[in-house]
Amino acid sequence: MSEKTASVAVIGSGTMGNGIAHVCAQHDRQVTLVDVNEELLQRGLKAIEKNLSRQVKKEILTQDQANAALQRIRPATELAAVKEARLVVEAVSEDAGLKRRIFAGLDGLCPPETILASNTSSISITLLGAATKRPDKVIGMHFMNPVPVMKLVEVVRGHDTSDETHETVVALARDLGKTPVTVSDYPGFVANRVLMPMINEAIFCLMEGVAEREAIDEVMKLGMNHPLGPLALADLIGLDVCLSILEVLHAELGDDKYRPCPLLRRMVAAGHLGRKAGRGFYEY
Ligand code: NAD
Repeated sequence: MSEKTASVAVIGSGTMGNGIAHVCAQHDRQVTLVDVNEELLQRGLKAIEKNLSRQVKKEILTQDQANAALQRIRPATELAAVKEARLVVEAVSEDAGLKRRIFAGLDGLCPPETILASNTSSISITLLGAATKRPDKVIGMHFMNPVPVMKLVEVVRGHDTSDETHETVVALARDLGKTPVTVSDYPGFVANRVLMPMINEAIFCLMEGVAEREAIDEVMKLGMNHPLGPLALADLIGLDVCLSILEVLHAELGDDKYRPCPLLRRMVAAGHLGRKAGRGFYEY
């Protein structure tokens, strides 16, 4: 294991943050997991415990390995707890202002050699780098959901990301059993630039009554060989996250083909955010 990534801090213990903390701890990293309060942290830790148990059942890990992984995660409610980490992965809500404040805060707290990565789905890595005095050490590490299962890490190079930072993060992704794919910093990178317009179009189909929810998902599963239909996938990602990404694509690429479907806006307003809320396009 490279010394440069022996200790990792993850900011945000939600859907993605707890998954990133899980795979880092599973692969022998000391992990500091930060969220704004104890209740959210406990929820994140519970999710990690549940997902580790699932890996034990599937014989991916032994019970001892799962216990040891859990022991390597130190929860914290203060950002200052990240000081010791050699690499930080930020996974807070998809809000550019919030992420820029966190990057500026991390820049003040962490030693100059610490790499600051973001798991953002669509916010510019260059913009986050510019909130710090170390844009060469800022990079995108875009894990997929659910993190313990999905192989891809979209590695996003900002305008000033150095080769050294890039190499360190690519090596870490490989160490975590993932396949890194490097892309440039343009809105939505590749994954969401291609995925979100498809999900949005599926929601337009539902709104316009082209077909029922099950029919839309079935067409894409059976016809395109997708393991999950686009509406079920939107529920998994979180409808608020989908809306934020579409808003970034729409604003930054300036093309109306990215206009978020009004039904998506209405469902987010109603709080029907998908699996995490117990209700989205489907009920859970
Ligand atoms: P989430 O809402 O499940 O979790 C976000 C967490 O961040 C929450 O627990 C929240 O309390 C915490 N947070 C907010 N402000 C904070 C602060 N100041 N300090 C510490 N913690 C704070 O969101 P998520 O789905 O995990 O998404 C997180 C990031 O990952 C977003 O940038 C999103 O675009 C990206 N992402 C999401 C998915 C997905 O499928 N959900 C996939 C890839 C990338």
